[in-house]
Amino acid sequence: MHVEIIQCLQDNYSYLIIDDSNNTACVVDPSEAKPIADYLKNKNINLKYILNTHHHFDHIGGNKDLKKRFGSLIVGFKKDSERIPEMNIKLEDNQIWKAENFTAKIIHVPGHTSGHICFYFFENKFAFTGDTLFSLGCGRIFEGSHEEMFASLNKIKSLPSDTKIYCGHEYTLNNSKFCIKHDPKNLNLLKKINVIENKIKKKLPTMPSILKDEIQCNIFLRAKDLKTFSKLRDLKDNF
Ligand code: ZN
Ligand code: FE
Repeated sequence: MHVEIIQCLQDNYSYLIIDDSNNTACVVDPSEAKPIADYLKNKNINLKYILNTHHHFDHIGGNKDLKKRFGSLIVGFKKDSERIPEMNIKLEDNQIWKAENFTAKIIHVPGHTSGHICFYFFENKFAFTGDTLFSLGCGRIFEGSHEEMFASLNKIKSLPSDTKIYCGHEYTLNNSKFCIKHDPKNLNLLKKINVIENKIKKKLPTMPSILKDEIQCNIFLRAKDLKTFSKLRDLKDNF
């Protein structure tokens, strides 16, 4: 089982989870169909499932086309089935979703949107965090409260520290500038920024991140309480 990172639109990431033992795949948050279809071309990989973390168009834009082309099934949070068209498999919080050799725990993480979920492939230690946890940042709070977002981030924070984190956007470099401004003496952060800058220079994705690094470096995960978190989140909105 391995993950291919597919760049979409301006700064979105979609991810293909490919089971090399039987050439089946899931795609997470296909912003658009073309880059996914281009990757799959001539590869004889069966795109069985489309997994959506939330209903925003830059995460579901490719759903319809891919479904039509590959006969894939759309998988998402049950409470968002009105907002994610043609959803076939409707998931609940804490459910273990199993299909083919894919196994993921569904973690409801409201805040960015009310129906946002994280797909946690615990057997492989992959977490797809959409627009909830970014590398060195977190999503804007559109539909929830600061309290909900803080609780959602804490759910992700409690996963094993060697979990690979796959986020919805390449915002890492800009996020790092906010982190360092408010946490200038964090040596782990300085080290991580060095790695990030090198990757960006080479036009490489900064994904995946490792949860341990996020816990040490991401100022939103370092926030000790709701008040600190809320203040930082508000400052970041105007950064
Ligand atoms: Zn979003
Ligand atoms: Fe997004």
